[in-house]
Amino acid sequence: LMHLTKKLIEIRSMLLSIDQSDALKLPSIVVIGSQSSGKSSVLEAIVGHEFLPKGNNMVTRRPIELTLIHTPATNGSPPAEYGEFPGLGLGKIADFSHIQQTLTDLNMAVPTTDAVSNDPIDLRIYSPNVPDLTLIDLPGYVQISSLDQPESLKEKIAVLCEKYIREPNIILAVCAADVDLANSPALRASRKVDPLGLRTIGVVTKMDLVAPDQGATILSGNRYPLHLGYVGVVCKPSGKQGRRETTDAVARRGDDYFRVHKEQFYSSASLMVGTDTLRKRLMDVLESSMASSLHGITNAVQLELEEAQYQFKVQYNDRRISPESYVAETFDALKARFKDFTTQFRKPAVREKLKAMLDERVMDVLEQLYWSDKRVGEFTAIGADTKIRPEEVEPYWRYKLEAASSLLTKSGVGRDATLLVADGLRALIDSIASGEPFTYHPGTAERLVQFAHMILRDRIPLTADQVENCIKPYKYEIEVDEREWESGRKEAVGLFEREMVMCEDKLKELRKRVGGSRRLSNLMGYVRELQEKELEKKKKRLSLIAAGEEEDVVPTEEESYKYPPGQILDARHAALYTDRLSILKLRLAALKSKRCRGGPDNDLLCPEAFLSVVADKLAYTSAMFINIELLDQFFYQFPREIDSRLLYNLDRSEIIEFARENPVVRRHLDLQERKDKLEEVMKQLNSLSTLRTDVQPTPRRA
Ligand code: GDP
Repeated sequence: LMHLTKKLIEIRSMLLSIDQSDALKLPSIVVIGSQSSGKSSVLEAIVGHEFLPKGNNMVTRRPIELTLIHTPATNGSPPAEYGEFPGLGLGKIADFSHIQQTLTDLNMAVPTTDAVSNDPIDLRIYSPNVPDLTLIDLPGYVQISSLDQPESLKEKIAVLCEKYIREPNIILAVCAADVDLANSPALRASRKVDPLGLRTIGVVTKMDLVAPDQGATILSGNRYPLHLGYVGVVCKPSGKQGRRETTDAVARRGDDYFRVHKEQFYSSASLMVGTDTLRKRLMDVLESSMASSLHGITNAVQLELEEAQYQFKVQYNDRRISPESYVAETFDALKARFKDFTTQFRKPAVREKLKAMLDERVMDVLEQLYWSDKRVGEFTAIGADTKIRPEEVEPYWRYKLEAASSLLTKSGVGRDATLLVADGLRALIDSIASGEPFTYHPGTAERLVQFAHMILRDRIPLTADQVENCIKPYKYEIEVDEREWESGRKEAVGLFEREMVMCEDKLKELRKRVGGSRRLSNLMGYVRELQEKELEKKKKRLSLIAAGEEEDVVPTEEESYKYPPGQILDARHAALYTDRLSILKLRLAALKSKRCRGGPDNDLLCPEAFLSVVADKLAYTSAMFINIELLDQFFYQFPREIDSRLLYNLDRSEIIEFARENPVVRRHLDLQERKDKLEEVMKQLNSLSTLRTDVQPTPRRA
């Protein structure tokens, strides 16, 4: 039957990992007692080693779930005795003073302001000298509140103990023989939850401190009867400091005490004394308590299992997942998505983007150098006059064109083009990182973005330099052939047409906003008048200043406007768009004229076509080198970076952590795990019931 307890202890800890609720609980022995009642000494006597924290200052602040596992002694080789903290991953600890130190550290880590913590410490001890038992050591009841212990401490400990002494647990109430049982906080607490004393064992410590007769009377339990009885022990460690003694020897001496006083303790068969007796008693009680819980727990597990199986079928159609498969799928999807997106960055697409950027720049250059030139009318007139041959055009316009071209080629195209594409890449990665399922994995999303930035930071300066280098020749000379000219001219026509549509749209919008076209033209007339007036005033002031009468210049007071300022502003904008439109119209006509269609010789008079060719060449060359230096590198490196720095670096626990960040996956895994564990427990319970019928007829070990 011993096998049964061992199995059930295993099942108990499995159940604990499934569910903390009371429904699925197998009994354990809970040790309670006031401070200094000798609680630690009793536990150490059972284990046969000193391993509990010592000291006066509240050394047990967390419950210790102590599982003792009896390991058969191996022939010859020294018995393997060791402890394990399953939650800490420290491995097997053979040195019990190391266990003691670990427990001390764990307890001291609880802040003194909290005093006690509900979070249990899981400790397993494997030894041929221990019985199979589960014991829970709780902080001792505080008798007197001292200065450095908060007032609420008593209360906190009481609440903690109450939680553990509930059914189906067995209560081990530790009381010192030299303290009246009536004053024992342990017995008082046990009576509250177990008034008939059906699941309480009394342990009376320090039997050596009272007269043997008096001790025997206490153990008879006549005053405070307990169904499971009292066991008297002497666990007094003899030597103080220096001389270390195994607790086993202490226990033996403890038992000696009872042998010396055998007429008091051994004459009556009903008295239980000594640590060996205590161990056996605990084993028997736990065993029968577990055995009687077996039926109930089997039913409860069966019910839970059926529910879990049903839910798993209904919610997930019995589909099993693993954290590994989720991680693999997620990253495969990421790479597929990334690959899809890369098509946006094929060469023609990049070229088009760069061309758009440069077209805008062409417009700026034209505006700056041509449209604001007072001679622009004259310029258009020369262009229209087909009698003037290209080589007869004034050098003024030659310088103009050279200036325009170099404004364009020297505007930092390398850097700007590279940044434009890099921004596109950044936006691409941002959109992947901020989309599903990375919304659930903010840490990973951040790393993806970091990888992208790292590669870009690396490549941008190189690429920018490379591009700038490759467009360098265009800063000195640009050769344009017939075909290039014609396509440049057509593109310029398209550009101008689009620009005109834009200006017209803006005007339409302004017209609508001020309330019709008549209103707008009135406004514009008024604005023009204002401008003229201002110009007059300015001239007058200038002449006054020139005449040395500047002191007499009195600032004219602001004229109140006939229209609201917002509308005045709209009118000013409308005037700008109208001017631009008329120039665009003129130049568009020029671009379509016979002269401009005549070929690259007419570049001086058709700067728009020429600059469009330049922009084309710049875009083409930039795209080519950006492709080699930035895009190819990025598309090669990024997926590899993910693999080598993220995916292949995940250990098992990180994979689980990652998968569980996604709530959908977490729920799925939780249910699946619960079902699996319940199935395992059920299997074990079933094997037990056959075992039990096999074993039951054999006589109990004495
Ligand atoms: P805890 O605070 O309840 O864990 O109590 P301890 O086990 O630390 O014991 C408190 C004090 O009582 C210690 O000084 C022990 O040496 C002493 N003590 C424990 N058991 C006995 C015993 O059986 N007889 C005597 N005389 N002293 C004991």
